[in-house]
Amino acid sequence: MTQNTPKTVYRFGNNVYLNITNRCPNLCAFCIKTKWKMDFHGNNLNLQGNEPTAPEVLRVLEQELRQAPFEEVVFCGYGEPTMRLDVLLYVAQTLKGWQAQAKFPPFKIRLNTNGLGCRINHKPIVADLRRVVDIVNVSVNAETEEKWLKLVRPESEYADAYPDVISFLRDCVEAGFEKVILSCVENTGADTNALANLAQQCGATLYVRSFLDEQN
Ligand code: SF4
Repeated sequence: MTQNTPKTVYRFGNNVYLNITNRCPNLCAFCIKTKWKMDFHGNNLNLQGNEPTAPEVLRVLEQELRQAPFEEVVFCGYGEPTMRLDVLLYVAQTLKGWQAQAKFPPFKIRLNTNGLGCRINHKPIVADLRRVVDIVNVSVNAETEEKWLKLVRPESEYADAYPDVISFLRDCVEAGFEKVILSCVENTGADTNALANLAQQCGATLYVRSFLDEQN
């Protein structure tokens, strides 16, 4: 395998990440996928439209998990994982089985999402996620709809979806995930104090991630 082969499974820090799609209905002002030319620290995440099937993901993932210790398996991207809900649920269900069998040392299953999954799939998805995912990180990014539109730049179909993102966050807390994270990016104009209040009101944990510029 050359370094430029697109990766569906990659490591960063102590975690293993799953790149199951590059599609996303947003065009966030701070998204690094274009700026970094679909590369993430030496991993080519450009699937070029060849989205992996669930068995393909699981085959590579199982090999990777045997290689070295890890703390979390994270559905992430470059892309919105709920665009491929069936694959996400199938892979996560298998991971749940591996947790139950203690096939690997204890680990968590996390979903990083833009919070639009119910709108994308035209149905409630939180209960299905709750069965197979431990931690949800919702990229809320803004404390008002106006700011959200400016920062996240959704496709027109989702221009009215900010309240749905907040509902998704609240529903996740209510569903009883181990942890629900409200995330935002520093230095984007988001009011982190207001977002901390929102997180507290919803019962979520605030995470302010660094603004990523040059890769180092
Ligand atoms: S939601 Fe994530 S993948 Fe989509 S544009 Fe924003 S940062 Fe990029």
